[in-house]
Amino acid sequence: MKHSLIPTEGNWYKANLHCHTTCSDGKMTPEEVKERYRSQGYSVIAFSDHNKIIDHSDLNDENFLALTAFEVDFSGKDSDLTWNANKQVHINMIAPRADEDRIVAARLRDDGTFDEVKAILPPQKYVCNSRFINKIVSAAVDNGYLTTLNHPAWSNLDYEDYAYLEKLWGVEVDNGGCRVIGRPDNADVLTKMLRSYQRDIYPISADDNHSAFPLDHPRCSSCRAWVNVRAEKLDYTSIFEALKRGDFYSSAGPEIYECYYDDEECAIHIKCSPAAAIYVNSDGIAGNQAYPEHMGETITEAVLPVRQDIGFEFIRVTVIDEKGNRAHTKAFWLKK
Ligand SMILES: [Zn+2]
Ligand SMILES: [Zn+2]
Repeated sequence: MKHSLIPTEGNWYKANLHCHTTCSDGKMTPEEVKERYRSQGYSVIAFSDHNKIIDHSDLNDENFLALTAFEVDFSGKDSDLTWNANKQVHINMIAPRADEDRIVAARLRDDGTFDEVKAILPPQKYVCNSRFINKIVSAAVDNGYLTTLNHPAWSNLDYEDYAYLEKLWGVEVDNGGCRVIGRPDNADVLTKMLRSYQRDIYPISADDNHSAFPLDHPRCSSCRAWVNVRAEKLDYTSIFEALKRGDFYSSAGPEIYECYYDDEECAIHIKCSPAAAIYVNSDGIAGNQAYPEHMGETITEAVLPVRQDIGFEFIRVTVIDEKGNRAHTKAFWLKK
C-alpha cells in the first residue's frame, strides 16, 4: 500500500501563513502585501498581525484568499530581565472563519495561578510557561483555530519550553524574517516535538514579513518561505480544512511532485524539482539520503529504502536545492 506524504488530489495554492502589515508593526499595508504576493504566484495569505484579529475578506478575489489570523505573544516571566533577555513564545492562530473575531486568552492571577480560560477576552499580560500556553492553545483549538509555534530559534526556546506543549497544529521550520536577521529556524525542533509524541504537528515554512524592502533586496523578508496547499477550490472552508488535514508541504525553494511510502517495498519514492540532496529523516539517528553522482549536479527523483530492523517510529522527507533551500513533508508514522 502507498502512503502519500503530500496531498494527491485538488489544486495547488501557494500560501504565506505568517504575515505582518501596518495593522501592527509591518511596513506594508494589507493591499501592498496582497499585490506583492500575487505578483509572486501566491493565492493565500494569513494576515497574522500581533494580538489583532482582522477580517481582510475585502481583499478577496477569484485568485486571492485572505485568512483571518493573529499572532499572540507570551512574554518571559522574569520581570527583572529586559525584553531582550526574556524568552518570547509566539503562537500563530488561524481562525476557522473569516469573520471570527474572538481572541482566546486567560487571566493570570496575582498568585501565579490562572482563571479558567475564556473564549472571548482581549489580550492581557501573558506569561511564558507551557501550562499557561497549553490553556490558551487548548481554548483556541476548542474554538476551531489552527495554532503554530512560531520561530523557536528566534524565541531562544529550550527543549523544556516546547516539549510539553499540547494540541499545536504546526511549528515553524523556516521563517523568512528570522533568516534575514541571522536567526534561522530548522526542523530540529519539529523532530524533537514529534519525538515527544506530538504526533499531529506539521512543518510550517512562512515569511513573518515585516519589512517593505524590494524583492531583490538582501534584507527582504517577503516570499522566502511558504506552504503549498492542495484543496478543491480557493475558498475559506476548502483551504482551512485542507490545512487542518495536513494537505500541504512546506518549502523555501524546492517543489515536491510525488512522495509516498510503499509499505510492501519498505521504501520512500520521491519526485521533485532539481535537488542537491534528498533526505529521509526519522525519529532516530539513522535515515537515508539520495545525492547526484557529482557535486554541482542535481537529481529529480529517488527511491530510498527505509530500514525495518531498527524500529523507526516515524519518517519524513526533506529536499534541498542548490542554494541550500529546503522543502519539508509532514511525518509519516510507521508505528500507529
Ligand atoms: Zn513572532
Ligand atoms: Zn510574526
